[in-house]
Amino acid sequence: MKKYNFNPGPSILPREVIEETSKAVLDFKGSGLSLLEISHRSKDFQAVMDETEALFKELLDIPEGYTVLFLGGGASTQFCMVPYNFMEKKTAYLNTGTWAKKAMKEAKAFGEVVEVASSADSNYSFIPKDFTIPTDADYLHITSNNTIFGTELRKDLDSPIPMIADMSSDIFSRPVDVSKYICIYGGAQKNLGPAGLTFVIVKNSAVGKVSHYIPTMLNYQTHIDKGSMFNTPPVFAIYTSLLTLKWIKAQGGVKEIERRAKEKADMLYTEIDRNKLFVGTVAKEDRSRMNICFVMAKGYETLEADFQKFATEKGMVGIKGHRSVGGFRASCYNAMPKEGIQALIDCMQEFEKLHK
Ligand code: PLP
Repeated sequence: MKKYNFNPGPSILPREVIEETSKAVLDFKGSGLSLLEISHRSKDFQAVMDETEALFKELLDIPEGYTVLFLGGGASTQFCMVPYNFMEKKTAYLNTGTWAKKAMKEAKAFGEVVEVASSADSNYSFIPKDFTIPTDADYLHITSNNTIFGTELRKDLDSPIPMIADMSSDIFSRPVDVSKYICIYGGAQKNLGPAGLTFVIVKNSAVGKVSHYIPTMLNYQTHIDKGSMFNTPPVFAIYTSLLTLKWIKAQGGVKEIERRAKEKADMLYTEIDRNKLFVGTVAKEDRSRMNICFVMAKGYETLEADFQKFATEKGMVGIKGHRSVGGFRASCYNAMPKEGIQALIDCMQEFEKLHK
C-alpha cells in the first residue's frame, strides 16, 4: 500500500533526494568513501558547502551582505543565540504559539521582552493583527508558521525595527523579502532535509553590536568568519539539503512551490469546510498552508479514534494532531505531492459516507 507521510517533522522529503542521498552514503561522488566518512575539510565537501549557500541565496533572492550559516543545535538553540547576538536591553516578540513562547523565554534572560500581542487566550487559533511595535526595541521576533497550531503569517510584516523570524516550518514555501530581516533561522527537518542541521540567514552588519560577551560557539561572527566550519558541521544533513535545494530549483523555484502549496492547501481546506464530520481549528485568514489542523465537528467527536484508524489503514501517516490542539494535523510540506492530499480527501469522503 502506498503511504503518504504527513508527519510534522522530521517529515517527507522528495523521493529523488532520498535516492540520491542513499547513493552518496554508499559512494560519495566516486570517491570510494561514504558520505558518512568523508572529511568536512575535504575539497569535495567544501564544494558542497559553497554550492548549498549559493543555491540558498539564489532561491530566496537573498541580498548582498548576508551569510547563510549551517549549524547544529536545532532551532531551539537559536532561541538563545538570537538574543545573545542581537539584544542589548529590550526586544519585542509576537506570541503566536508554543515555539514563539519558548523563544521569548530565552530572551527574558537578557533584559526586557515586550510581548506585542498574543493569541494564547484562544489557544493560538489566529495571528494577532493590530499591535504596536516599540521603536526602541532591538528587534521584533516572529514565528512565521506555527507548526503546532496551524497558523501562518504568509507574508512579511512591515516593522519599524529589524525583524527576526523562526521559519522552521515554512522556509522555501513562498518568496521572502529577506531585506526586512536581520536574521531568519530554522531547523532543516521540514522543508529542507533531515534533522541535525539548522540554517541561519544573518545580516553581517547587524552582528557585533552588543556590549556583552558571547560564548564562542554561540557567536554568529565565529561561524561567519569560519564559513560554518568552526567546528564539524552536520555533513550528511547539509548534503541532503543541497539535493533538496536542487530539487526546488528543478521544480521551477520558490514561486512554483508557493503555487503548489496554495493549490494543495486550498484542496484540503475546501474538503474540511464541506465535510460535515470535520471542522478547521484556525481563523480562515490565518490558515497555514504547511500544517493543516482540523477536529471532528460538533456531534461527531466520538468518531475521532475511528477516523484515525480508518485513515491509517488507508496509508495516511502522521495525521494525529498535537496534544495541545487534538484532532488531526496534516503537514503538507513542499515534497508532499497533490496525490497525497487527494488520498486524504478521498479518505475523509469515504468516512463521511460510512456515517450518514
Ligand atoms: N520552531 C518551530 C516553528 C518548530 O516547528 C520547531 C520544531 O518543530 C522548532 C522551532 C524547534 O526546532 P528544533 O527541534 O530544531 O529545535
